[in-house]
Amino acid sequence: MNHPENDKEYKGLQVNSGVTSQPCVNPYRRVRARRPSLTASDYVEGILKGNVSVLGQAVTLVESTADAHRQLAQEVIEKCLPYSGNSRRIGITGVPGAGKSTSIDVFGLHVLRDGGKLAVLAIDPSSERTQGSILGDKTRMEKLSQHPSAFIRPSPSAGSLGGVARKTRETIVLCEAAGYNNIFVETVGVGQSETAVHSMVDFFLLIQLAGTGDELQGIKRGIMEMADGIAINKADGDNIERANLAAAQFRNALHLFPPTPSKWVPEVVTYSGYFELNVDKVWDMIDRYFDYVRKTGYFEQKRNEQAKYWMLETINEQLRNDFYRRPEIRALLERKEARVLNNEQSSFTAAHDVLDRYYSLLREETHP
Ligand code: GDP
Repeated sequence: MNHPENDKEYKGLQVNSGVTSQPCVNPYRRVRARRPSLTASDYVEGILKGNVSVLGQAVTLVESTADAHRQLAQEVIEKCLPYSGNSRRIGITGVPGAGKSTSIDVFGLHVLRDGGKLAVLAIDPSSERTQGSILGDKTRMEKLSQHPSAFIRPSPSAGSLGGVARKTRETIVLCEAAGYNNIFVETVGVGQSETAVHSMVDFFLLIQLAGTGDELQGIKRGIMEMADGIAINKADGDNIERANLAAAQFRNALHLFPPTPSKWVPEVVTYSGYFELNVDKVWDMIDRYFDYVRKTGYFEQKRNEQAKYWMLETINEQLRNDFYRRPEIRALLERKEARVLNNEQSSFTAAHDVLDRYYSLLREETHP
């Protein structure tokens, strides 16, 4: 065949030396510089000015697991602390499908009617499994996400529930310093995360549904005990009667619970988030609660208790992490577990042996 490639003279695949590129003659050419890393003071200054982009970056810093970031984050948080606290922190829980995002969208616009700012944060226990967060997603709160005074942040996704909760709590501090005077913390009412949310908010709202037949089924008693208010959603159309019936059942059930530490009697209201019916009833209840606890002093008392709780929680978590992250401890635990299961050693002496090994490891580290 007479293909040109077969021709010895064919030079098509040879690389010529080409011409050197000309120096750039455009003086306005933008050199893409790396974003300069902010110092703690830069963060704090931006946050106090209400700069949303800096706030977002600071939250990312709080969520980071890198040691250097954690240190910087702690510095920023400490500097923001004196400017925090001035908000209404409201926890919102309910099973998936209860209408949390629909309601938060409407509740958010309701509170922003009077001005001020709103941050919507989330604690999502499923994020560990899905490697991504479902709660606090902007697309779930269409109207609110377009509001200039709303800051919506999905749940931090990495780490244990304790870690995720701590990050959310620290994010509250940053948001408050940035002038957000309403904080919503959303969580799915199916697991442990309610306790974490309850320990960082002033008011805990449980969103419930009517018309599922046996209304009190499937709701953990513990969650109901934590609630300062129950709002029965989807009280619209044919469902209104059932919602009222459910409300009566909830009121009865609440009577059987011991009084709350604040002596506030949890209320039950019905509303429709989707059709925006009786949303003001929900907020009248919440307003009344805040008036009440501010008058009785319980507002301050609860916040002080929460601050102590989080200090102790942080210590617990640090100790636990430090203990279990050590390969030697983990290996010893495995051996001890086998002995305990074989009845060769009691649980208590085995535990003491492991702890003793831990203490001696610590001693070796401090006095090598
Ligand atoms: P979430 O999983 O708790 O966040 O629940 P969503 O807000 O996503 O709502 C779940 C479904 O219930 C959606 O299809 C909503 O349109 C619907 N929904 C939410 N609120 C209401 C309501 O007040 N009335 C009615 N009829 N449907 C609602």
